Amino acid sequence: MKKIVIVGGGIIGLLSALVSAKHNHKVIILNERKTPPKIPYLERYFAINLLSKHVLMNLGIWNGISQKCINPFNKIIAWDSVAKSVVTFNSQSISYDYLGYVIKESEMIKSLLDVIKQKQNIIYKKNVILNDIQDKPNNYSITYNNEKLNFDLLIAADGKSSKVVKILKLDNNLRSYNQDALVMNVKFAYRDAEKISYQRFNNGDVQGLLPIGDNTYNLIWSTSHSNSEKLIKLHKKDLIKILNQDLSSYISEVSSVSKISKFPLTHSHLKSNVIGNIIFIGDAAHTIHPLAGLGLNMGIQDVFVLDISLEKSSESPNHMDSNFLRYYGELCNTQNTKIMNTINFLKKFYETTFIPSVIKKSLVGIFNDNALLKSRIIQEATGIYTLRNLSSRNYYQTHY
Ligand SMILES: Cc1cc2nc3c(=O)[nH]c(=O)nc-3n(C[C@H](O)[C@H](O)[C@H](O)COP(=O)(O)OP(=O)(O)OC[C@H]3O[C@@H](n4cnc5c(N)ncnc54)[C@H](O)[C@@H]3O)c2cc1C
Repeated sequence: MKKIVIVGGGIIGLLSALVSAKHNHKVIILNERKTPPKIPYLERYFAINLLSKHVLMNLGIWNGISQKCINPFNKIIAWDSVAKSVVTFNSQSISYDYLGYVIKESEMIKSLLDVIKQKQNIIYKKNVILNDIQDKPNNYSITYNNEKLNFDLLIAADGKSSKVVKILKLDNNLRSYNQDALVMNVKFAYRDAEKISYQRFNNGDVQGLLPIGDNTYNLIWSTSHSNSEKLIKLHKKDLIKILNQDLSSYISEVSSVSKISKFPLTHSHLKSNVIGNIIFIGDAAHTIHPLAGLGLNMGIQDVFVLDISLEKSSESPNHMDSNFLRYYGELCNTQNTKIMNTINFLKKFYETTFIPSVIKKSLVGIFNDNALLKSRIIQEATGIYTLRNLSSRNYYQTHY
């Protein structure tokens, strides 16, 4: 049994704790003192892919989420309003019922904390202020609230502004997308019989709509800082007017909008997510544009890789040796780099004005008609390609 300390009590920190506990290690979660959210604050929703669902089921989290809070979707319609091109993705093309599920962050955290409470080998400490980290052979320790704690492995899951990254003075290639994401719930007049998620690209803006039930969608609208300032200040009826111009032809008339939350968008990626006996996971290791709703899914994929790595390390006489760390680091890096490059390519493709609209439209048309290529992209985005590739037959059982 090794001592694993986890910094961060978000979804990724809590999942990392459960995976570590499953391999019989002693786990201590250190979560910061929560500051009250800045007003206005809207509950966050996440699109969860099939690999993430598998991980949540495997750790006993999925069944603890109220079924009425899980909103599945089996189709994505993405359109570019400038080039007038449309791409559709269907779950049928990969022979699955759904492409993903939209779930409230608080529902997932609640289920995670319920399961964690039952684990005798997990200690949860909140109101933590990190002071220092030592990562030298014979002195692996973290100091918080002026108390020193030794560890065998430290997992940094403290999100995009990771203090662990700052204390260790690591370069995470941080750069701004020069956009904010405005998040709001939008209610439409008519019921959408199908379970569809939508994406509208417009001159660099992206409007992603995730179905959350009751004719309502969670809208994630990525736009320039100046436009986000303007939109936030608009009177509701003027905002509804703009939303109707943008969306009503694909969905239906907008009847109301909620308050708005704003998130500045950044890209970051640590060159290595393993430094000594410290590993980085989730947003502490990488952040990407939310256009494909994959940020959290990438973090859950890291947790999946952590699980496999801990399983492998338990077979070796020196648990958590350099092989374990190298295996985790290399596998995560390969998977994450692939996803990040694809998302950054997509973002550039839709916003560039160097490719004339007519060529963009025909390229998108060729892609939309290529069933094989589309199926491969869906397998990557839903995580089933990774799940199939990495699952060891004896160890993992898939559930959908
Ligand atoms: C607008 C928007 C929409 C998105 N939509 C999606 C989506 O649909 N699907 C998807 O997959 N992803 C989505 N993402 C990405 C997703 O939000 C993140 O990838 C995910 O929340 C990261 O989880 P995390 O646990 O790594 O970090 P966080 O959720 O940030 O959690 C970090 C935790 O660490 C704690 N912490 C921070 N600092 C310290 C410290 N010094 N000491 C101790 N604890 C600390 C915090 O309190 C928190 O509990 C979206 C992102 C944005 C901006």
